Parts: sequence; C-alpha cells; structure tokens
Amino acid sequence: MTSDVRLAFLGGLGEIGRNCMVLEQDDKLLLIDCGLMFPDADMHGIDLVLPDFTWLRENAERVVGCVATHGHEDHVGGLQYLLRDLSFPIFGSAVTLGLARSRIEEAGLLGRTELVVVADGERRMIGPFDVEFIPVTHSVPSAFAIAVHSPQGVILHSGDFKLDLTPVDGRRTDLARIGALASGPGIRLLMCDSTNAEESGHSPSETSIMGVLRSLFREHRDQRIITASFASHIHRIQQIIDAAVDEGRKVATLGRSMQKNVRMARELGVLRVPESSLIDIEDADSLPPSEVCIISTGSQGEPMAALSLMARGDSKWLKVSERDVVILSSNAIPGNEANVSRVIDGLLRLGAEVVHSGIADVHATGHAQADEIKTYLSIVRPDYFVPVHGEYRHLVANAKLGALMGVPSPNILVCEDGDVLELSDRGLEPVGRVPAGYLYVDGIVGDVGQGVLRDRRVLAEEGVVVVVVTVDVGSGKVITGPEIITRGWVYAPEAEDLLDEACDLVEAAVEKALSDGVRDIETLEKDVRRAAGKFVNERTKRRPMIVPVVMET
Ligand SMILES: [Zn+2]
Ligand SMILES: [Zn+2]
Repeated sequence: MTSDVRLAFLGGLGEIGRNCMVLEQDDKLLLIDCGLMFPDADMHGIDLVLPDFTWLRENAERVVGCVATHGHEDHVGGLQYLLRDLSFPIFGSAVTLGLARSRIEEAGLLGRTELVVVADGERRMIGPFDVEFIPVTHSVPSAFAIAVHSPQGVILHSGDFKLDLTPVDGRRTDLARIGALASGPGIRLLMCDSTNAEESGHSPSETSIMGVLRSLFREHRDQRIITASFASHIHRIQQIIDAAVDEGRKVATLGRSMQKNVRMARELGVLRVPESSLIDIEDADSLPPSEVCIISTGSQGEPMAALSLMARGDSKWLKVSERDVVILSSNAIPGNEANVSRVIDGLLRLGAEVVHSGIADVHATGHAQADEIKTYLSIVRPDYFVPVHGEYRHLVANAKLGALMGVPSPNILVCEDGDVLELSDRGLEPVGRVPAGYLYVDGIVGDVGQGVLRDRRVLAEEGVVVVVVTVDVGSGKVITGPEIITRGWVYAPEAEDLLDEACDLVEAAVEKALSDGVRDIETLEKDVRRAAGKFVNERTKRRPMIVPVVMET
C-alpha cells in the first residue's frame, strides 16, 4: 500500500494574505509558505494577522522544513513569528530568502533556521518529501511553483504566478516543465492561485509598463520625478531606473525597505544600475529637478512610509511642490484605498502632479487572470483541483475555471482555512479540521485575542460608560454615588439630565438588590451593568461598553 498524503490549509483560503499550508507524508510535515495578512480598518490597533500556529506547535518535532514560493510578506512574513516556537530550515530562491532574511534577523531568530538557497528547476529531498522548484513569473523576482513528487503522484502548488511571455528578466513560468510532468507521470492534484480568477482576459506584461514610463519621463522633462512602488517589485524598480537613466537623471532611493531591497537585489545581480547613476537622498535636493528621479516606499499609503510623509509635508528629505510629478506605480491592495487616496490628496494640495493606475497604465498585476489560469489548467490537466490564495469569491471563480477546463466537478474542492484533505488511492477527500483562526499581532505583545478586539471595536464605535457606586454591605446601604463617567458616548455637558436619570435608576437597582439580601459584589456589579445598559440602550439607542464598579466601605 502506498502512503497517503495529507494537506492542511492554515491560511490564504478565504482571504488575501497569510498564505500557509502543510503537507503531511510518512508522519512528517512540510510547510509551503508562512505569510502574514495586513489588518482591516475595523481591527483596531492590530499591526498584522498571522495563521493560527497551534497545530504546528503541537506537532513541532514533525516539521522538516518550509518551502517558500516567493518573498512577498503574505508568503514569508509569518516565518519570524513561527520561528519563536519552532526550529526548521527554509528553502527558497536567493531573492526569496534575501527578502525573508532581514525580518528573521531583526527578530534575532536566524539561529533557529537554516536558509537553503535552491536553484531554478532544482529537485531535492526534504525529509521524506521529494520537492521540485519550478520557475514562475510574478511581481517579485525568482518565484517558484512547487511540485512534490509524492507516493500519491505529483502535487503541484502554482505559487503566485502569471503567464508573462516578456518578463523583465526573461525568466518565464516554466510551462514546458509543467507540461512534461503532466504528460509524463501526470499531475494528481493542482492547487492554483485564485487572486485574479474573476478578472477576464490576460494580464498585461510587466514590460508593457516601460513605454508608459518612458513617455511620462519625456512629458515631464523639466520636473522632478518621484515614483513609488512596492519595495520588493525589483523588476518595476528596474524599469523606473532604466527610464530615468535613459533620460539623464540620477536615481535616489527613499524609505528603509526600498534602500535595503535595492542593495540586496544589486548584490544578487537581479537589479542592474550603473554606480554613477545612483545618488544619496541627501544630495537629491541640490540637483536641478530635471536631473533627479526618486524611488520611494509608501505606494500603499502606509502612514509612516516615505510617500505619506512627503504628502503631509513631514519628509526630512523632500519638499513636494508644483515642480514635482509623482508616479504611483502600483495598485492599492484592498483595504488600503482610503490611505492611498489621502496620500494623493496631500500631494495634489502641495501642487504636485500625480499619475496613478487610474489615470495611466503604470501598473501591471503579478497574478494570472482567467485566460492565463485556463491556459495553465489546459497544460496541467490535474486529476484533482483545489483553488487556493484568495477570498472565497475568488476560490469559487477559480473552481469554475477548473470545471470549464475539464476537471470533473466532484474532483474540484473549494476549501477553507482549517480544512484537512487526504490524498489516497481512493482520491482526494476532506478528513477533518485544524485550528486556523486569526492570530492578531499587536506590537510586540503577540496574540491579542478575539475578546480584546471586540472590546476595542465597542470602544471605538460606541464609547464607554463607567458607573461607580460605594455600598456598605453590612447595613445594606448605598454610601456614595452612583457616579457616571463617560467617554465617547454622549457629549456630557448636554447630557446632564440623562446622566442624572441614569444615576437614579442605577441607585434604585442597587438598593433593591441590597434589600433583597444581595451582598456579593460581583452580583451587584451585574445588576448595575444591567440597569445602566438597559437605560442607555433605550434612551440613546447606543450600546457603549458599560463598566460597573461597586466598592465596599
Ligand atoms: Zn505574491
Ligand atoms: Zn500572494
């Protein structure tokens, strides 16, 4: 009997971000990616969201390693947290590991892992797993699809990919190798990126941006050009640099991650810039505007990033004015639209001209659209198909593409975070669940928990009402209060009558409880909360947090 293989999805199925899954074979576990997710606006005070690592912690000694498909935060950004509890090697391309490394290093956890660089097309054993790293094109260099040659046949994870026939570095998604696997041993199971499954047609090539950039640079010959893009999008940065250098401009990078990544990419030889074309950001202001191009972080409107500081007039390095053109060579990730808008408004107020993807084609997605996914499916021809990486709607859209391309409907499984599947001689079936909720990270505190978040939401949206009463338990009398202190509920000076009324009501409730013989503080506090809560809700139709404080003399 051949061994069965299990798959557990810890994140990325039902949201964009925190991609993380686990393969299980011969009692060993192999992670594919370990990413983070950026919080929604209603996750008050949360810095980032991770997969629930409970199950991995409980099975720590069985983990043989993590293969990283590429260096985006939503695929490797969780590693420096998981490495606090577990120790395992990480396998990926030099660029992927270069991007992942600095975070792990900052967390002081390099000693808990070994970063193993793998080459394009390399195949190696990781514990019992026979893993092949297949080149794919994406919005970060040197991304991989992962093929696992398992006892149950070839399992292919697409990674994040697009089918770009003219990528900046010429490194295309290796359809020839995938085709060889499909027509050789056959591909038993495909897990495929669903991010753009709802978008019809074919994504534009990354190199299509070049023409747009060149004409923008020519149009604005006399102005200073400030660009912003993802700091990991080395190919976009390359194209901006090429356009700038060809027009005789010097290039300065701005923002910590941009400077770090540009340095790393140059060292690895994936970014080519003549030394003479680079200047320090400190010297950018001393050159005429027509001779400078700035490449900055902050394309997502992150409040503390370089571009946001410029838009607020707080940048230490640059003063934005009507002599500037700002090119946002990016798309706002869902959830970031409001921040990006604010940055654009700020820049326009300072007099700058702003070019963004809503105005000109200055951005190309890194994810395959429907026609590319169809092409991919027609080459892979998997027995089983599990859409991964996307909100539920994206997974469903991708499942439809699978059916359209001939995968039998019963063999297409739309899964969610926490689902565990088993691939056996019988086929692919759901066999259980593992914990896969959100792990909220707040600063260095770590897990904040659902309860804290619920409290924060109530505090933010409804405010708080604190009711203080002092009682003499012996005599069963209210000694002082009730006193009501509120924040964020009603504007207090205008609500004095309301507060007086509430006090009377609470006092009556406490006196009644005391005369009924209640002497236990906790029960009295419950009574106070109930009385105050009912009144507040009935009179103001609000549900602020009610904090009862009953004290004994
Ligand atoms: Zn990606
Ligand atoms: Zn991704």
